[in-house]
Amino acid sequence: MITKQAITAFSSIHTPFYYYDIELLKKTLDIYTSYIKKFNYNAHYAVKANAEPKILQIIQKAGLGADCVSGNEVSLAIKSGFSPSKIVYAGVGKSDKEIKTALKAGIFGFNCESVPEIKVINDLAAGMGKVARISLRVNPDIDAHTHKYISTGRKEDKFGVSPWEFQAVADELRNFKNIKMIGLHFHVGSQITDMSVFPMLCKMIEQLQQWFIDHDINIENLNLGGGLGVDYENPTKNPIANFKDYFELIHKHLIVRPGQKVHFEPGRAIVAQCGDLISRVLYVKIGQKMKFVILDAGMNDLIRPALYQAVHAIDNLTSDKKPLKYDVVGPVCESSDKFAHAILLPETQRGDLFAIHTAGAYGQVMAMKYNQRDLAKAYYSDEILKK
Ligand SMILES: *Cc1c(COP(=O)(O)O)cnc(C)c1O
Repeated sequence: MITKQAITAFSSIHTPFYYYDIELLKKTLDIYTSYIKKFNYNAHYAVKANAEPKILQIIQKAGLGADCVSGNEVSLAIKSGFSPSKIVYAGVGKSDKEIKTALKAGIFGFNCESVPEIKVINDLAAGMGKVARISLRVNPDIDAHTHKYISTGRKEDKFGVSPWEFQAVADELRNFKNIKMIGLHFHVGSQITDMSVFPMLCKMIEQLQQWFIDHDINIENLNLGGGLGVDYENPTKNPIANFKDYFELIHKHLIVRPGQKVHFEPGRAIVAQCGDLISRVLYVKIGQKMKFVILDAGMNDLIRPALYQAVHAIDNLTSDKKPLKYDVVGPVCESSDKFAHAILLPETQRGDLFAIHTAGAYGQVMAMKYNQRDLAKAYYSDEILKK
């Protein structure tokens, strides 16, 4: 939430910048962890969604572990206070160096995505005199009904191992002395808003784990990944994701065997709503067909609209004039550098402050310097509002 007090504070900060509502982040974590405790689940925050040190520390203090997708994320998570015993590491292309980093750190487990990867991990672990704990990331061939670039569990996606490869994995596991299989991992996509995906996933997990049980392979851990969507259209109305329906659906549909532990890897649902990209209007340009609001923030600061055709709610924080229709664009030399098309905003002028909402996940972490632009800095509600 952006309060009047926050808008006053913004006027002295160089734009564009990311603004994080720490109160909302903590409230989100409170509700999230209440369900984790209630159902005796385990949670690992997906570091790739937002890796700002302060945000990582708050999430670590709330008791979550970390879900990493690179060796540097593993190192950063440890530096931020996450216990290696609560770190999981996924990714289709783990390099030897990254695998060694994770082995040295003694992470909870690797989420392995191919048979050749398991062999490399076995060899590297043998060289270090260690036993690597692995979960097999399974591609259950489920369509998560989300954008194709963030769909990860269909058979045409690069992620995970398909059921036809299970026999090969089981054969290899018998030969690999430095691998201990500890479970199965599933992450079928991101920004999933169709809740029926989750019961379907639970049903697939039950079918797929049965194969391993039939082959005398104990599945100690079931990891359901992340993916729960947030409301990009109405962030004020729905500032916290629907954790209640999500966890109750999974609790109802997932068959958990005695001694089995259940894990989650939330990213977006934890951090998306607490972040806004704050920007100033450079120009209002009247084109032949459209009026353009040209912001000082661009696709290099927030690439989601350009990359995924993502919709972010946008507000003019400093005008309450009558609404007009605008395209909201950035300064970068790309036509895809556009935040919104033909939206109604109060009549806008140079110098107005804009907020692009729901930018806390896959926003600042994806920023780049294209056009040699500066990287936007982060500011936090609990720091700028108390002065
Ligand atoms: C990105 C990712 C997540 C987090 O997904 P969200 O949609 O942000 O919750 C979880 N697990 C894995 C393996 C991922 O790659």
